[in-house]
Amino acid sequence: MTVSTYFQPASVPEALALLGEHGPDLLVIAGGTVAMPLINEGISLPRLVMGLRRTGLDGIERTDDTLRIGAMTTLTALADQAHSPLLADAARRTASWAVRNMATVGGNLFTPPPGGDVATALLALDAAVELTGPDGTRAIPIGAFWTGFLGTALAPDELLTAITVPLATGADAFRKFGRRAANTPAVVTVAVHLGTQGGSVADARIALGAVGPHPVRARAAEAALSGSPLTAETIANAAAAATDDADPFTDAVASEWYRRRMVGVIVERVLSGLAAQPGRDA
Ligand SMILES: Cc1cc2nc3c(=O)[nH]c(=O)nc-3n(C[C@H](O)[C@H](O)[C@H](O)COP(=O)(O)OP(=O)(O)OC[C@H]3O[C@@H](n4cnc5c(N)ncnc54)[C@H](O)[C@@H]3O)c2cc1C
Repeated sequence: MTVSTYFQPASVPEALALLGEHGPDLLVIAGGTVAMPLINEGISLPRLVMGLRRTGLDGIERTDDTLRIGAMTTLTALADQAHSPLLADAARRTASWAVRNMATVGGNLFTPPPGGDVATALLALDAAVELTGPDGTRAIPIGAFWTGFLGTALAPDELLTAITVPLATGADAFRKFGRRAANTPAVVTVAVHLGTQGGSVADARIALGAVGPHPVRARAAEAALSGSPLTAETIANAAAAATDDADPFTDAVASEWYRRRMVGVIVERVLSGLAAQPGRDA
């Protein structure tokens, strides 16, 4: 069966009403870069499709200490903003120009691994996601958004409407390692936020992408850094711990073994790069 109806609601309330009316029979799409290939190849066969392009959910707003990113903001717009260099970097390293012009930040959170490069950066930045349903909007930490492979905390009658990012002080770094330099799926993606105090790491957030069912925090690696100066020894300990934090898989891009090896290598490179930054307080 092919798509019989394509809805283009002009607001979030209109979109929620359609979702309430049609329930699971209605496929929600954002930029369509994940959903449309599945439809075109006959893997997904929805009768009813709802595009969110006209709901007004795009745009990036900055307050003093927070960035609010509408779920329908394209990866091109995220790459072009100057408020968060980490997010701009992550967006630029996702897919190709053509895909980034369509793909949305919200959609990146739903992408099966090894996708989710921007989602990995958002996890390192301790973002929160806003989920809106008939009873209003709730915000949850992005780490609680993923519940398993392709599983999310989004209720059937809700839409992901925005992502908020605290603009904390500290140092950030993003590194996506793939088999080519650009436009490549990740073997592993690493995003790091480090806060330091008195020469020691006070707040470490290390997020890993493409090495588990969804982006994950490398908690053992973070613990290995916490309270210590960023030296070659603590970096090596954190990189070794990160290989245990990962839960990699084998696919056409890389084997489980290679992915796990590269977690340690890339975490070590990213942390060493941060340690070498001039003027860093550590
Ligand atoms: C050639 C190619 C290369 C790619 N390379 C990369 C890459 O390097 N890195 C990477 O991370 N990704 C990559 N991707 C995957 C994809 O382009 C991105 O993850 C993109 O951000 C997905 O966003 P989208 O808006 O297109 O999602 P869509 O396809 O529109 O959405 C997929 C599903 O997510 C859900 N969804 C999306 N938005 C919402 C919302 N606001 N509310 C409720 N549900 C929603 C819906 O169920 C929807 O069907 C690539 C894709 C292609 C085709």
